[in-house]
Amino acid sequence: MAKYKLEYLWLDGYTPIPNLRGKTRLADEAPSSVDDCPRWAFDGSSTLQADGSSSDCMLKPVALYPDEGRNNAFLVMCEVMLPNGESHPSNSRANIIDDEDAWFGLEQEYFLFQDGRPLGWPEEGFPPPQGKYYTGVGFRSVGDLARTIVDEHLDLCLAAGINHEGINAEVAKGQWEFQIFGKGSKKCADDVWVARYLLERLCEQYQVYVEWHCKPFSGDWNGSGMHCNFSTKHIREVGGKAYFEGLMKAFEKNKDEHIEAYGPDNQMRLTGLHETQSIDKFSWGIADRGASVRVSQAFIDNEYKGYIEDRRPNSQGDPYAICGRILKTISEVPTS
Ligand code: ADP
Ligand code: MN
Ligand code: MN
Ligand code: MN
Repeated sequence: MAKYKLEYLWLDGYTPIPNLRGKTRLADEAPSSVDDCPRWAFDGSSTLQADGSSSDCMLKPVALYPDEGRNNAFLVMCEVMLPNGESHPSNSRANIIDDEDAWFGLEQEYFLFQDGRPLGWPEEGFPPPQGKYYTGVGFRSVGDLARTIVDEHLDLCLAAGINHEGINAEVAKGQWEFQIFGKGSKKCADDVWVARYLLERLCEQYQVYVEWHCKPFSGDWNGSGMHCNFSTKHIREVGGKAYFEGLMKAFEKNKDEHIEAYGPDNQMRLTGLHETQSIDKFSWGIADRGASVRVSQAFIDNEYKGYIEDRRPNSQGDPYAICGRILKTISEVPTS
């Protein structure tokens, strides 16, 4: 009889950005929902989550995905809990305000690296300047291996039920993006973490790794962001100029708290150049890719209803922290 492999995934205790960890648990039956996955323990002293003298941490399954990369397999995204049942201080998912009508779309940018440089870069020096790489085609624009990897990754994610909306080659050579959309406070963030896991694991077999850092090199090369598109029921259905302006005031007031949640080293990326606003300014604009927050002309024409893009979160940011912070600021703004 087949045994089923459940890969329990969680975030470790490293700061400023946690790493993904995973270990396999075997089961006699396939789980039909996350409720069929029991809690499990791990050695928190090896992940910066506990002392050796009292090392157990608990894994609480929160989302289940089919895993087409292995036979008879599933991925089980987990929250880390203390032995007493409370959430672990590193558990950034636990504190997100629940709102099943909140929608998020995250645009994850990243570089694929091999031998210490992006795929397609020469051993010495730099490739030709940016221009033709974004959405490009052909060996000179995107090389050979990269597209193989991003296409395999897309198929793995789709098989897992992850709600990808699109993928594209990005502005710098060796830089790529995927977009994931999810309804509910946590769905999109769960999916992004699992998509990151699948990409890291897939790349192992090509001796390639993912560089998530937001600015892997200085000079005239785009950094990597993770724009966060968001809406609540109120923003989609009621909106209005006054509410939007109140919301932007709250974003401005909480500027530093947002930056804190938006990923490390963001001062290297948010310079005011390369389609960014500078890190110490807050601005919003219509169709303005140099603003902190962008809305479309359609949003304005539709009486300030639709969705909003916060362009500041970076590629290395924790999607739980990002979505959680945005919902917290939204919760501070009265809807009438
Ligand atoms: P761009 O690169 O121009 O910023 P993308 O297409 O890469 O645009 O990303 C925009 C994302 O916005 C979509 O992929 C989708 O996930 C997200 N989105 C669309 N509608 C909504 C909505 N109502 N609420 C939240 N996010 C949305
Ligand atoms: Mn995009
Ligand atoms: Mn992009
Ligand atoms: Mn965007």
